[in-house]
Amino acid sequence: MTSEDGTGTLLTIGAFARTARLSIKALRLYDEIGLLPPLCTDPATGYRYYEPAQLERARLVAWLRRLDMPLARIRLVCDLCETDRFAAVAEIREFWLRVEADTAARRDLVSFLIDQLSGKEDTVRQTEQLEIRYAALSDIGSVREVNQDAAFAGERLLAVADGFGEQGAPASAAAIDALREVDDGRVVESGDLLNVLQDAVQRANEAVSAFDAGTTLTAMLWTGSHLGLVHIGDSRAYLLRDGRFFQITHDHTLVQSMLDEGRITPQEAESHPKRTLLVRALGSGDVVVEPEVQVADVRAGDRYLLCTDGLSANVADAEIRRVVEGTADPAEAVRNLLASAEHEGSPDNVACVVADVVRATRS
Ligand code: MN
Repeated sequence: MTSEDGTGTLLTIGAFARTARLSIKALRLYDEIGLLPPLCTDPATGYRYYEPAQLERARLVAWLRRLDMPLARIRLVCDLCETDRFAAVAEIREFWLRVEADTAARRDLVSFLIDQLSGKEDTVRQTEQLEIRYAALSDIGSVREVNQDAAFAGERLLAVADGFGEQGAPASAAAIDALREVDDGRVVESGDLLNVLQDAVQRANEAVSAFDAGTTLTAMLWTGSHLGLVHIGDSRAYLLRDGRFFQITHDHTLVQSMLDEGRITPQEAESHPKRTLLVRALGSGDVVVEPEVQVADVRAGDRYLLCTDGLSANVADAEIRRVVEGTADPAEAVRNLLASAEHEGSPDNVACVVADVVRATRS
């Protein structure tokens, strides 16, 4: 088959795939999503035909895929290449900066996990008595009429919850109250911690279900040597350890899942109309109640931050880190974090908890 304007012989999908070093399966997908449609498709056979001039775009797609760039962003870069090469270059550069920043954050998480799983320093620390110093604060913000966020910090429990719906405020309070039953003074063995947390979160969900509402919940239970973490929704837990600051929870949002699957770019995620849509929460009949539960191995010097999206969605990560790193006293740290949110206009309720793991002063 030859093209009508006589520019040359059209390529079959097989020939085009070989030359562009893309698979036939990939080419079909790129056609479906409009990234690289063939010049024409035979209406009778359904065979796709490409023209040689399309090879340049195809090669660019192949290179960008090798960088693991999401398809939506590749389409953007390819389109820009045809109109404004400088903008395309800027787009690639920005993508790579984000990859490097993300890699740095994951490097911190990896060394944390390696230390934790290999039980590093466990024998040294067995004799060491640790305790936590903590502070919690919640604020209505400047725009909302009610505060549906709740924060709690006690000797054994740290928690934030972000309620939503008609009765969001009593719902977030009920979730935390249900967890506080664990904080009744009885000893929780570290080996039992996960089960205790699972049971507690089930009770929390039942308590929340009594309301016309749902809530997120991010909480930590202190056993005296370990912190158990339970997390559902888009509130967050961060850890500052040895000068590294990283998020240890994963947002249960639709946008985060789309980002994980490479269906949208980080840029699109920031302005996505459904960016606050939760895929998991407590008390909502239509979403899954499937909390993340994990045991964190703690060290003297660790600082944990729990916060609702009123902080993390409105204050830049670098600013959160600056306050968490730069304020010694937990009570002052939570006040400063709320002040940072206020500086950004406080469009949402805010709740946060800061807790330090320190060597016990009395033995
Ligand atoms: Mn919120």
